[in-house]
Amino acid sequence: MTLDSPKLGCTDSPVRHERGQKAVFCGLTGIVWLHRKMQDAFFLVVGSRTCAHLLQAAAGVMIFAEPRFGTAVLEEQDLAGLADANAELDREVARLLERRPDIRQLFLVGSCPSEVIKLDLERAAERLNAHHAPHVRVYAYSGSGLDTTFTQGEDTCLAAMVPTLKPTEAEELLVVGALPDVVEDQCASLLSQLGIPSVRFLPARRSDAAPAVGPNTRFILAQPFLGDTAAALERRGAKRITAPFPFGEEGTTLWLKAVADVYGVSAETFEAVTAAPRARAKKALAAHRGTLEGRSLFLFPDSQLEIPLARFLARECGMVPTEVGTPFLHRAIMAPELALLPAAASLTEGQDLEAQIDRHTAINPDLTVCGLGLANPLEAQGHATKWAIELVFTPIHFYEQAGDLAGLFSRPLRRRALLAGGSAA
Ligand code: SF4
Repeated sequence: MTLDSPKLGCTDSPVRHERGQKAVFCGLTGIVWLHRKMQDAFFLVVGSRTCAHLLQAAAGVMIFAEPRFGTAVLEEQDLAGLADANAELDREVARLLERRPDIRQLFLVGSCPSEVIKLDLERAAERLNAHHAPHVRVYAYSGSGLDTTFTQGEDTCLAAMVPTLKPTEAEELLVVGALPDVVEDQCASLLSQLGIPSVRFLPARRSDAAPAVGPNTRFILAQPFLGDTAAALERRGAKRITAPFPFGEEGTTLWLKAVADVYGVSAETFEAVTAAPRARAKKALAAHRGTLEGRSLFLFPDSQLEIPLARFLARECGMVPTEVGTPFLHRAIMAPELALLPAAASLTEGQDLEAQIDRHTAINPDLTVCGLGLANPLEAQGHATKWAIELVFTPIHFYEQAGDLAGLFSRPLRRRALLAGGSAA
């Protein structure tokens, strides 16, 4: 006899799969936050002037602060096959490493042009590694718009690092996903208070702190867009702990609980460690609930954070998700989130921009989460918008950031109310 209990939330909901015109970033943008996290790394995009302009625009003011990223621009003679692009790349890399002896990890980042002319950056990385090791480790990954959307650039980057991590038999917990240092410190402190013996992070702040991996490694994702990295870790024998993502009070508690259960942490210890930060998070969230409660929400696909954020905004802030778009839906990684998302939400994977804008117009939501390209036009039409890119640049994970996360969504609504001369409830 089997018990056929109904599935929760959106687990069994149909997903609209769309292909067509897209308004999303390519994976090169991941460099903007990855280079801040990995303090001895340099990201060298092998691409065109378009790629250089994109990085310049996305990184904004940071380009003046001797950044650790740049573009090796493919000129017309490279594209026409008149020059040996590999020889030029070797020369550029040698020049760069001579000028910047502080660099210990160099990432060659593939772009649309480098892929179209079939420049084999993996082979180039091997060749350069042989030349510059052990002082510098050279990796290659793709951030091109042909293969990657926005945050997927972090996934391809971390997945490229996994095969080079040292092997180990040690029982360690690996937290995977680039978190701002202050958030990483909070996460490490909570896990250590729970008594988790050995916790490492991928990516590490510096190459000499890189984690090792092996059959006794357990890992948990801190970001939802890391499918390739998870698969690469599993190929090394590591086992994944499944959990919702640590957004909001509930998400953080469920994430920590999933770890605590695997390590046999007692219910009393768990309660003692989490009670105070949970109460703080709930109090901080309450300040925004009045603005957000009952308001409808529409998310265009951008970062793969959409489903966890819709879950957080629905369950902890009382918002009503209408359409939740995601550039890519990884069923296994997203299963705990889908179970918690209100069943009335409609899910879309991929994008057909015109059709999606028509649906958006028909729904006329109170708040729209979208990329910069759509934000101002939608604002001009009278819609309140939240720029999705801020969600990857701002500390939003774990208990202490729960209030700030809700604030990112309540702010555009308050601003509209203020500009309209009404109350900013
Ligand atoms: S990688 Fe492709 S999509 Fe990204 S900036 Fe370069 S040309 Fe544009």
